Amino acid sequence: MLLRLQNSIIYGPIASRRLGRSLGVNLLPFYQKTCTLDCLYCQYGWSRFSNLETAKYPSVTEILSALEQALKNLPVPPDYITFSGNGEPTLHPEFGSIVEEVKQLRDSLAPIARVAVLSNSTTVTRDSIRAALEKLDDRIMKLDAGNAASFEIYNRPYPSFEFNRIVKGLASLSDVTIQALFTGGKDGNYSPGSILDWVDKIVEIKPRKVQIYTLARGYPAPTIENLSRTELNHIRQRLSAEHIAATVY
Ligand code: SF4
Repeated sequence: MLLRLQNSIIYGPIASRRLGRSLGVNLLPFYQKTCTLDCLYCQYGWSRFSNLETAKYPSVTEILSALEQALKNLPVPPDYITFSGNGEPTLHPEFGSIVEEVKQLRDSLAPIARVAVLSNSTTVTRDSIRAALEKLDDRIMKLDAGNAASFEIYNRPYPSFEFNRIVKGLASLSDVTIQALFTGGKDGNYSPGSILDWVDKIVEIKPRKVQIYTLARGYPAPTIENLSRTELNHIRQRLSAEHIAATVY
């Protein structure tokens, strides 16, 4: 079953496989997926790129006030305050100032929490977004494909986003974490050639670590399939051979 879209700015804390108790911050319109990719495995179903033109984002004041209220109401501070939600968080036109203000709020109300983003990486080509990303405690950036052809089939980008520029942008970030979702099936990204190309790109990016996983929720494409733990471990071993730390979730 597909996941229901968020109808609020703050959601959770949720028990995240990768982030512990994570308080989600949705910078995107409610009940509407707003994303520059249309991944075959998206837990929210297919994207409508027309949403990119019409999106009405919550204001900075609304976001800070919702977060302040949530942090004050929580009996225990979260492990993470995570920008995620109904699509790609860095699309918010004021993402840079939101990052700074949220960190200040964290410092005063939940100093043990880390501030992170789960991003699809498409906007990493922009200087202003890279500068904002560098201010976060953790940048968890998607890269599932090893070449432009696979990116087109698997992640189905909005036409203006180019695979090689995204890889260059990721390589220029410091201390980045890469997240990658692998699947089998006709349109999956688990073929020997795809894995070979993907490992080459990871070596070029030099991430601090890599998170590898497969389907855990509903997804819209009938042409992909879950992978086994053994297959995911095979990918991890390919990275280990290149001295890159990776975890299978
Ligand atoms: S980047 Fe995330 S939200 Fe966007 S289509 Fe892919 S999985 Fe869905």
